[in-house]
Amino acid sequence: MSQFSYQNGVLHAEGVSLSAIAEQYGTPAYVYSKAQLLDNFASYADACQGRDALVCYAMKANSNLAILDLLARQGAGFDIVSGGELLRVIAAGGDPQKVIFSGVGKSMEEMRLALEHDILCFNVESIPELHRLNDVAGSMGKKARVSLRVNPNVDAKTHPYIATGLKANKFGVAFTDALATYRAAAQLPHLNVAGIDCHIGSQLLDDAPLLEALDKLIELIDALGAEGIHLHHLDLGGGIGIDYGDEEDGAPVPVGDYLGRVFKRIDAWRAASHGGKGIKVIFEPGRSIVGNTGVLLTKVEFIKHGEEKNFCIVDAAMNDMARPALYQAWMDMQPVVQGDAPVGTFDVVGPICESGDWLARDRALAIAPGDLLVMKTAGAYGMTMASNYNTRGRAAELIVDGAQVHLVRQRENPADLFALESLIK
Ligand SMILES: *Cc1c(COP(=O)(O)O)cnc(C)c1O
Repeated sequence: MSQFSYQNGVLHAEGVSLSAIAEQYGTPAYVYSKAQLLDNFASYADACQGRDALVCYAMKANSNLAILDLLARQGAGFDIVSGGELLRVIAAGGDPQKVIFSGVGKSMEEMRLALEHDILCFNVESIPELHRLNDVAGSMGKKARVSLRVNPNVDAKTHPYIATGLKANKFGVAFTDALATYRAAAQLPHLNVAGIDCHIGSQLLDDAPLLEALDKLIELIDALGAEGIHLHHLDLGGGIGIDYGDEEDGAPVPVGDYLGRVFKRIDAWRAASHGGKGIKVIFEPGRSIVGNTGVLLTKVEFIKHGEEKNFCIVDAAMNDMARPALYQAWMDMQPVVQGDAPVGTFDVVGPICESGDWLARDRALAIAPGDLLVMKTAGAYGMTMASNYNTRGRAAELIVDGAQVHLVRQRENPADLFALESLIK
């Protein structure tokens, strides 16, 4: 059940009306539901009950400290892609020893920071990265735990910008090079070969490609075992899709069903070959933890009737939510106060000076200037991709918990945006 629902014709987040939130905190604003967040995490945690498994939330989807703290308190680990994200985990009270470090371009400073905090594992994506990490760890007198991110070359059947597991992508080590790369890693004195990892894409509605990737990882783990390289964990990445409300897409696989199938395969593998004995399973979900946890609340500034189209100009823009401009993503827009019949078909656009600045196209809406709209399912890759383009301060962020509203990030004010700049003499 969604925590965002109409009560007496007004959209609420849990027990609080979004009209009241707009009045008190202004717009645009990201509004999250704590109950939805905890429900989503529980769908992973429950399916992992009694298993040697760890859920490392991919925090690039939404890295607000309050969200990280809520998840850390449920036992979550974190999948990070920068040193900055590690500092966020620490600031939120998360456990660095449950942190996995992903990404193709880790700097030496980032490696050092992560080693200082003794993170669980580096997901390494290339041979030069193995050497760099070995050098950095050696200079600190440490051993770095590593996984290789293997590219299983399965088609995730998703948008090309968010498919990552194909040969043509920049990510990972080719499946055919994996064994040789593991042998090379095992020779490096300051690395501890701990795991294997893949992440084939995002917004996958079907888990078949993920299970195919799992089979390929199992094949490699067996081949490595035969050479005396025994792994501590197997990391399947993230990628489970969510329902954005676009009828063309169909429904995503339920998280519990997917995890159930993963564990069933692992059990069968164990039974058949004693392979994978004592191996920990790691998941790195992002979107499926936070996507439907949030909405972007915005106000209609103007209605403009163009020659070919009607525009609904709102106070949120592509700097607040980049997904439509970046991926042509379809995001659901709904009025906060349920109206009568739609008054027209609109493109919902922001005030930014770019034709790419649109949030939704060809939507039948009953709206007038001053009305509130929400972009639904905006909790993932929304605020974290926000920018200050056009010197627009980023939106406020709020978490609703029952009848309570917590401001978890203040709206940025313009003076903050240029505070780090200076004039030349
Ligand atoms: C982005 C990312 C994830 C999370 O993907 P979702 O589709 O949001 O679940 C997990 N692992 C890695 C390495 C990523 O880059």
